[in-house]
Amino acid sequence: MDSPLTQTPREKLEAWLRYYYDLNLGTFYTDRRSMEKRPSKRAAENAIAVVPGIQPVVASAPPKTAGPLVMLPVVNAPSLFETIDRVENDTLERVREDLGECTRCRLHLQRNKIVFGAGNPRAEIVFVGEGPGHDEDVQGLPFVGRAGKLLTQMIEAMGLQREDVYICNVVKCRPPENRKPEDDEVGTCSPYLYRQLDVIAPKAIVCLGATAVQALLKTKDSISRFRGTWIDYRNTKLMATYHPAYLLRNPAAKGEVWKDLQKVMAHLGLHPKKSMR
Ligand code: SF4
Repeated sequence: MDSPLTQTPREKLEAWLRYYYDLNLGTFYTDRRSMEKRPSKRAAENAIAVVPGIQPVVASAPPKTAGPLVMLPVVNAPSLFETIDRVENDTLERVREDLGECTRCRLHLQRNKIVFGAGNPRAEIVFVGEGPGHDEDVQGLPFVGRAGKLLTQMIEAMGLQREDVYICNVVKCRPPENRKPEDDEVGTCSPYLYRQLDVIAPKAIVCLGATAVQALLKTKDSISRFRGTWIDYRNTKLMATYHPAYLLRNPAAKGEVWKDLQKVMAHLGLHPKKSMR
């Protein structure tokens, strides 16, 4: 029997379901047996399977017409990111060309230069930051201000040079007053980041700060949930750590970042030249 859904809504529904699978929310269903006899609050609480890392929400007054919401964790769920099409025969030049003199979001209004990214197009490691600041906006290059100098020190401490790695941001235009990019700005610009990462195909991605990891993992969770542990991003290892600008304000956190970078170095077989100071 033909489905009453047309192709477009079906695809939308599938995308949403995959999204929930990625959040580890596998199955939602209403326990219809309990509709005949409304469960006590305690029974409703007991019926909620706790998914690791996800706080279950228990309604104080369960609806009269439905039983408890049951959430089941998913094992080996397909990744949402596997469903994002890769552009065939893509190159960084083509991505830049497609971006053009972009006016797709409001960040173009006050920018001076688009900061596309810089470095080795065959880098084994890509650093992803949030967005350009003042110096980057003037020069059209990523991480060239004070935070950039600290990033350079971090890279050199790993036994690498800036030219060995690739550096880019989630949004390519400077947000006014260095504010955090809005969700719609991130959503509009990040497909170009995905393409950059697909083209470079590094062995490791280092997300500098919450915006980068949230954009790549499509989550709103705090960086503290991800920092310091390997995460799979489209079959590439992703490590989230603090942004160098945060380290300028909180130098005591450098030790944590150095531990994160040492994990990256171990993965890449790198030997440190010196510790990060
Ligand atoms: S931030 Fe990205 S999407 Fe927005 S105008 Fe700049 S290049 Fe275009």
